[in-house]
Amino acid sequence: MKLRYATIGVAGCGAALALTFFIPNWRASPVPAALATASDWQPGRVHQPAMPIQPAVISANKPGDTRPTAQTPNLSITPIGDLAVLTAPPLTDHWAGTLLPGETLDTLLSKAGLSASNRAEIALVLGAEYDMRKLRPGHGVEVETSFSGAIRRVLLSVEAGIQIEAVFTDEVAIRKIVPEPDWAVQTADTTVDTSISETLASANIPTRFAVNLAEVLGGTVDFRRDLSGGENLQLMWREAKLGDQFIRPPSLSFAALTINDVSYEIVWPDDDSGNATVFVDGKVLRVFAQPVKGARLSSVYGNRKHPVFGDYRMHTGVDFAAPHGTPVYATAPGRISFIGRRGGYGRVVEIAHGSDTMTRYAHLSSVPDTLTVGERVAAGDNIGRVGATGTATGPNLHYEVRVNGRPTDPMSEERLAQAARNAGDDAKIIARLRETRAEFVQLQTQTSTPPAAERL
Ligand SMILES: [Zn+2]
Repeated sequence: MKLRYATIGVAGCGAALALTFFIPNWRASPVPAALATASDWQPGRVHQPAMPIQPAVISANKPGDTRPTAQTPNLSITPIGDLAVLTAPPLTDHWAGTLLPGETLDTLLSKAGLSASNRAEIALVLGAEYDMRKLRPGHGVEVETSFSGAIRRVLLSVEAGIQIEAVFTDEVAIRKIVPEPDWAVQTADTTVDTSISETLASANIPTRFAVNLAEVLGGTVDFRRDLSGGENLQLMWREAKLGDQFIRPPSLSFAALTINDVSYEIVWPDDDSGNATVFVDGKVLRVFAQPVKGARLSSVYGNRKHPVFGDYRMHTGVDFAAPHGTPVYATAPGRISFIGRRGGYGRVVEIAHGSDTMTRYAHLSSVPDTLTVGERVAAGDNIGRVGATGTATGPNLHYEVRVNGRPTDPMSEERLAQAARNAGDDAKIIARLRETRAEFVQLQTQTSTPPAAERL
């Protein structure tokens, strides 16, 4: 702290005022480890005469935006009484570097000749908008310093064209610049050759789609046994581009595969939730909805040694280990039939899917205040958060499917597919299928005309 105040006395002007911005934070929390190195700070030379420092100009920051490395000073001497006062446009020095393998932000900034205290300050400011653990080789930093050596502006360029800009004037202004990508929709209408992935590869279609298809059609279609070649495969997918670069993996929005005159269609939502709907001959087969996204299945259905009581007991559902507070989603459309506590299950939400099937979500830490018994929910609606209420060794979701009151293995999804049909959401889902098909046909008929990106 003493050193920081000393800095104010020596450096003066913009830099000093910038530092005052941090003081409340320093009082509120212990000094971050990254700042431990700041203690070797030494006051720099005091530069002669103090010059008016104007606020840095924030550029438009388009990717590829270049700035001059230094501005030519345009000095003029204005006599005021006996004193000659130098006036000049702010003189800045510009440095740019790219993170190399094995380098940290600190080592990169030391190449720019910045003092330990300046480096620590920059890391602290940028860290407010960007998780520094995500820095990778190839990410870039630009630093502008004033004539007196004070930091004026720092621009961190990270993944997907995202930039973090910090401008140091009388206070620190920090912002995240996220470029708006161009979305391109692509379609393909092809014939299966030997395998799906080989067909995709030879048609120049992302081969990762073969995995997506296997995920949603697994259990319904056995690609090895059922495909004999010659099947029609239609695909529609979205790509996010920034200039010439893809900024995220392409994602499927529609697939249609016809095997022996049976039509399998899949519609994926736009929100990357992964909740795909599978149709067979235009009828809903299943809605793919995970109760917890990306969670690890920590315990399967069936007999197991009980984690708390130690004896062998029937495990009536499956457990997903996930951090406390992780959102929990309805796996199929239905009606909320119970919200409350049930002994060892802790805080529970139950959803009735038609008259015979029920899903139970247990050990919840919380349930949305707005959720009420009798309310209709769609697959993928948030119905609570992961917790450890009831008999639980740690935060996890116990997910149970009961048919006519008896627990069944939730991983056999066909029963919930039936539930989805019983719940009568088909009309909405099938309308969505029709829209998606129409979009595919429209784009497919325009394939020989300009690329999709120009039409959107
Ligand atoms: Zn369980």
